[in-house]
Amino acid sequence: MAVHNDPEKCMLCGGCPAVCPARCIEVFETVLVVDEQKCTDCGNCIKICPVGAMSA
Ligand code: SF4
Ligand code: SF4
Repeated sequence: MAVHNDPEKCMLCGGCPAVCPARCIEVFETVLVVDEQKCTDCGNCIKICPVGAMSA
C-alpha cells in the first residue's frame, strides 16, 4: 500500500516531502508524485497535510 494524493485538493505546498522519512514524495510545479515502491506507510504526510489531500 502507498498513500494517494488528491490533485483536486493538493496546493503543492511542499509540506509533506519535508516530513517524509522515505523521501519518496516529489513536488513539481503542477504535480505531486509519490514513489509507491519506497513509501513505508508511516502516515506523516497524511497528518501534516493542511487540506487533507493525502489518504491511505
Ligand atoms: S506515508 Fe510516510 S513514507 Fe509514505 S509518502 Fe507519506 S510520509 Fe512518505
Ligand atoms: S502537504 Fe498536502 S497540500 Fe501540501 S504538497 Fe503535500 S499533499 Fe499537497
